[in-house]
Amino acid sequence: MSENHNNRDKILLEYTEKMAQTGTWELDLTDNSIYWSDGVYRMVGDEPQSYPVDFNIGLNVIHPDDREKALAEMNAAISEGKDYNITKRFLLKDGTIKHISSRGTVIKDESGQPMKLIGVFQDITETNSLVEQLRLSNERFEKVTQATNDAIWDFDVTKNQLQWGKGFLTQFGYDPDVTKPSFEFLLSKIHHDDRDRVFGRIQEYMQNPEKVNWFEEYQFEKSDGTIAFVIDRAVFIRDGNGQVIRVVGAMTDISYRKVMEDSLRTLNHQLEDHARELALSNKELEQFAYVTSHDLQEPLRMINSFLVLLQKKYGDKLDPKAQQYIHFATDGALRMRQIILDLLEFSRVGVHLDRIESVDFNEIFNEVKSLQRRKIEESKADVSSDKLPIIDTYRSPIIQVFHNLIGNALKYAEPSRRPKIQVSFEDHKDHLKFMVIDNGIGINSEYHDKIFIIFQRLHTKESYSGTGMGLAIVKKIVENMGGAVGVESVPGEGSTFWFTIPK
Ligand code: ADP
Repeated sequence: MSENHNNRDKILLEYTEKMAQTGTWELDLTDNSIYWSDGVYRMVGDEPQSYPVDFNIGLNVIHPDDREKALAEMNAAISEGKDYNITKRFLLKDGTIKHISSRGTVIKDESGQPMKLIGVFQDITETNSLVEQLRLSNERFEKVTQATNDAIWDFDVTKNQLQWGKGFLTQFGYDPDVTKPSFEFLLSKIHHDDRDRVFGRIQEYMQNPEKVNWFEEYQFEKSDGTIAFVIDRAVFIRDGNGQVIRVVGAMTDISYRKVMEDSLRTLNHQLEDHARELALSNKELEQFAYVTSHDLQEPLRMINSFLVLLQKKYGDKLDPKAQQYIHFATDGALRMRQIILDLLEFSRVGVHLDRIESVDFNEIFNEVKSLQRRKIEESKADVSSDKLPIIDTYRSPIIQVFHNLIGNALKYAEPSRRPKIQVSFEDHKDHLKFMVIDNGIGINSEYHDKIFIIFQRLHTKESYSGTGMGLAIVKKIVENMGGAVGVESVPGEGSTFWFTIPK
């Protein structure tokens, strides 16, 4: 019976030790002899009872750094007769380190003298590493909280406990050491305009197990009473039953962005208003130019025809001076007519009466050349061109541009040499560039911008005819198509007028 009982205890102990990863030991204080249970042998990596143990063997399995402490605890227990509970490390023969929880108690004889020390070792390496992992992950969380500017919060739903990161202090002025973080406090600082909505959205996420990633934008009151615009992002963490147990979130102050957005929006509105006003006044101007130039034609025609009549009927009765005055008046009327025609044309730029079509620029070049045939022949000019592209665009404005540029190149030729005019072409990444290169009189660089302005001329009508509208028309056409125009020139050597068409 007792044999049986002992045996059963032995089996029970063996299994208990295996399951709980424990081992028991006994130190006989009368002769310092030691007994280890199977569990202790297993713990130190050896076959149970494969060798007898003594005090030194027992001491040697303890990590050298922990030995002193372990001995001191043991001695204190013996001399003071009290239990101890410490952790220490075992250093195994193969170098592995085990974390051991070690408890001991003293057994005394009838006279109260310590007789035995018995104890239990428990291998807590695994638990320790779990604790360590948790500590590390908490540390990492802390670091992230510090590294980001965001205000990180961590709400333990089951305990109704809220934790704040440093961001609440740096971003919003709430010191967790002063203000105890709580869900209620957080909610109370949400602007009343937004509070119900935000709370409602939180409730929605609490109740719906499908919802995980929460996101809200709201106004949040800082500790100094000012309002910050924030984006709050959170993750709802649930247990196996879909119950929310924890919510971790981060608040980002976007006030700066909000202010920028607002001023951008205002700026945009202003720009739109200006654009509308500009379009309106442009339209009015164009209409004005169109109407006036139209209406001016009529009285001008009258002046002209009466001057002709005057000349015809009374020409023989007038002295040469009067004849000359009539001539000046006729000439002025003619020039005015040209100005009006140019103005009319200028005001019509951009009002496309034709459709976009495939335009062969080589054809355009030949057409312009034939329009200028008389001048080319008179001056014996050499007018040539690179191979030009075919582009989908408006035909007549392009003719107009080349007509004006080649016309100018012929007009402003240097009298002492044969005019040479070359149209060249470059294909760039996002635009096409055309150049009209001449060897004419050239233009001083201080006038390079001025000449594109309406009515701006560098010469008197006596030296070179013209109204100063040609380049203004070119500029308006090119810019209307989204391109740019300009000139490079060396006075006395020649000019290169270029313009671009975006692809
Ligand atoms: P216009 O030729 O009727 O005067 P434009 O607007 O065509 O008017 O030209 C403005 C001015 O630019 C001209 O008066 C002239 O001084 C100068 N200019 C234009 N093209 C050339 C050129 N190819 N070479 C030299 N000067 C030029």
